[in-house]
Amino acid sequence: VEFRTGEALADAERWTAHNYHPLPVVVAEADGAWVTDVDGRRYLDFLAGYSALNFGHRHPDLIAAAHAQLDRLTLTSRAFVHDRFAEFCRGLAELCGKDLVLPMNTGAEAVETAIKVARKWGYRVKGVADERAEIIVASGNFHGRTTTIVSFSTDPEARADFGPYTPGFVVVPYGDVAAVRDAITPNTVAVLMEPIQGEAGVLVPPAGFFAGVRELCTEHNVLMIADEIQSGLGRTGKTFAIEHDDVVPDMYVLGKALGGGIVPVSAVAADRNVLGVLRPGEHGSTFGGNPLACAVGAEVVRLLAGGEFQERSARLGARLHDGLNALIGKGVVAVRGRGLWAGVDIDPALMTGRQACERLAERGVLAKDTHGSTIRLAPPLVVTEEDIDLALTHLAAVVQG
Ligand code: PLP
Repeated sequence: VEFRTGEALADAERWTAHNYHPLPVVVAEADGAWVTDVDGRRYLDFLAGYSALNFGHRHPDLIAAAHAQLDRLTLTSRAFVHDRFAEFCRGLAELCGKDLVLPMNTGAEAVETAIKVARKWGYRVKGVADERAEIIVASGNFHGRTTTIVSFSTDPEARADFGPYTPGFVVVPYGDVAAVRDAITPNTVAVLMEPIQGEAGVLVPPAGFFAGVRELCTEHNVLMIADEIQSGLGRTGKTFAIEHDDVVPDMYVLGKALGGGIVPVSAVAADRNVLGVLRPGEHGSTFGGNPLACAVGAEVVRLLAGGEFQERSARLGARLHDGLNALIGKGVVAVRGRGLWAGVDIDPALMTGRQACERLAERGVLAKDTHGSTIRLAPPLVVTEEDIDLALTHLAAVVQG
């Protein structure tokens, strides 16, 4: 047999910038929670494109929506209106319980959009003096890779050598309400945080943290912005992770699964008094809200409106977390997360997170490490109980040597 993986890996390595360190797997096909590599080996996908594949690979309803749209209209730019635009925007606004949405493409673009809107809202509505707007963010945050966003990253790898940095951000420890209170000034326009920090290792904040943040934001006329790009759209067992905190933010930032794993689709959602500050010419994107994106996005919204995926995530997530918790003290040091989302700290004396993921891949389970000894599990929400038990069996075998 001739194996194609080695050559494909070498080719990829030869022709691209090395801004990623992928696991040595070359995927060729996928369906649901399973992928097949170029040599015909099958793997259970326990990363799901960092939650961009919440509905699994090639969900039939999403593929059908994309196919139908490909045969009609794919792009107009925002210079014209197309006949799928309002449908998607309305559906998403209703899912979020907000007046308006603004569609973009990537997560980072949606975060940039939220930052621009918050600043303009600060100047035009709150009355902050020109150039003085401050946005409070959390240590350990991950909101994307643009120059402004990495300016307030606390991860040296993400930030170093990319200055000069955009000013106007104040970093406080994640989960510390008192620190948020102390950081608020008359110039504070927004608090921007992940309801659960994904890249940081699936960190769940202490109970009451976001309720406290919400209260402070309301009291001081500050926008609370929830970056639900990774945590939202069913991942944690609810449509939005912030629902676990019984809190409604002023702005949702969405991406990843919004494009159904087919096209990049992101958006911000907020009420008219916030998103209404933007005027023609002040913000935009050639591809944002394009017909194909809207067709897929509208189908994503429809899938979520049924509640079935959120329910699956809650139910199967309990099974996943039960299984993971049973490994604590047996090669696993700690487990965090909600729903079908888990950060698993491997005993660093045994192996690194990277090594754990390599061994899992050899056994046919795909996951990705983050920050040293943590591995992140986030299977598609279409995963079955048998799939979860299989992944748990392999993880147990890996950590128990
Ligand atoms: N915000 C959060 C919470 C994320 O997890 C990510 C990506 O991992 C982003 C923003 C950036 O999204 P994108 O990679 O699509 O720009």
